[in-house]
Amino acid sequence: MAVRILIPTPLRPFTDGRDSLSVDGATIGDLLASLTSQHPDLKQHLFSEDGRLRSFVNIYVNDEDIRHLARESTPVAQADVVSIVPSVAGGSIAVEELPELTRDEFQRYSRHLIMPEVGVEGQRKLKAARILCVGAGGLGAPATMYLAAAGVGTLGLVDFDVVDATNLHRQIIYGTNDVGRPKLQAAKARLETINPDVNVVTHEATLTSKNALEILRGYDIVVDGTDNFQTRYLVNDACVLLGIPNVYGSIFRFDGQASVFAAPGGPCYRCIYPEPPPPGLVPSCAEGGVLGVLPGIIGVIQATEAIKLVLGAGQPLVGRLLLYDALSMTFRTLKLRRDAGCPVCGDAPTIRELIDYDAFCGITPAQPATSGPAVPAISVRELKERFDRNEDVFVVDVREPSEYQICRIPGSKLIPLGQLRARANELDRSQEIVVHCKMGGRSAKAVAQLQELGFGRVRNLTGGILAWIDEIDPTQPKY
Ligand code: ZN
Repeated sequence: MAVRILIPTPLRPFTDGRDSLSVDGATIGDLLASLTSQHPDLKQHLFSEDGRLRSFVNIYVNDEDIRHLARESTPVAQADVVSIVPSVAGGSIAVEELPELTRDEFQRYSRHLIMPEVGVEGQRKLKAARILCVGAGGLGAPATMYLAAAGVGTLGLVDFDVVDATNLHRQIIYGTNDVGRPKLQAAKARLETINPDVNVVTHEATLTSKNALEILRGYDIVVDGTDNFQTRYLVNDACVLLGIPNVYGSIFRFDGQASVFAAPGGPCYRCIYPEPPPPGLVPSCAEGGVLGVLPGIIGVIQATEAIKLVLGAGQPLVGRLLLYDALSMTFRTLKLRRDAGCPVCGDAPTIRELIDYDAFCGITPAQPATSGPAVPAISVRELKERFDRNEDVFVVDVREPSEYQICRIPGSKLIPLGQLRARANELDRSQEIVVHCKMGGRSAKAVAQLQELGFGRVRNLTGGILAWIDEIDPTQPKY
């Protein structure tokens, strides 16, 4: 009786490139025996020298792991589909090559060691593992803290920023005293207090098409803790090109997502999101806000997935998108499929090297939205002088009500940008109007909208309310 066996990408070189084979047998043991007799080179990849199935090779009958069935005696029927799923990290290292644990490590990791899914061998895999976290922000902070605590031997971090006071409500790797300090310096120090045995490798750089392959190469797993689309596509493509699984996470306000991309046979980020949204359509956390604990939840899910990949334990989020909603406190998973037409991981990829991700995401280097001759501007000092001379200037604040509650220019009228067109009739066309937002980006759009509607005397306040607070009224709080 012939049963279909799916062959994963790493093993296809030993099956003449075929991704599935029909093999005769009544049990898993029979199938594997006839498979390896037809393709003898497969044998050393599936079985150890003493003839036992290698621990990092998982065999599934339909969606059940044979370890939960009758192992190699598991019976198979004609309609069954058998999958060979090698673990994608750590699996390439033979057990005897894994680093030994020290006496102190046996003690530190004792709660891991007594679990069958980890055990001494799993802990040695963690010690051998090299995991890179791109971004030492909201997601990177909890992810790296737990990965360090769990005993991941080499932990890389990519970031270029310094710690800002607005980071502290969620980036718990940093303390109040770290404000102003380079993030990587502060993060490395903190991770080393959590676990001095971890080798923390810092890459103080912006990840770019020029340096990404060089930085990522040599790591077993990448944790994507980025906060912008350019870097997300860059990380995705680099992981696909290098064959490194990409543990994805993203956060916004109360919502989070997680998945595992670029694993053998699974989809990549581009399979799901072939194109980025146009710039400005999806607000960033800096613009839209984020609940402080949310990156803790998603970052720890990313750390969990990375650890599972190293151990080869359980079912990773390959081919599944986890959606988390903190307000309703619900988790949902959606099925994801690899897109055979995907430009980077599909059957005929067109992206074979890293591209210009700013251009791909529609970002132009000069930020024309906030400057340029099209939008007439006024400085905060000039506005203050006009007020002091009691001149007739009407100030429109196009931020959101929650921002208006934090700080405002006295006498200004709040009309959020999204309502401006509909509420333009509330403004006096004969009056001179100055529009502002937080930093000048949204108000530049507002000025352009009002000009389109025929307002002749509109100007954008350069630097927004933050410039006003810096230069005119330092008593108000900034955000
Ligand atoms: Zn893809």
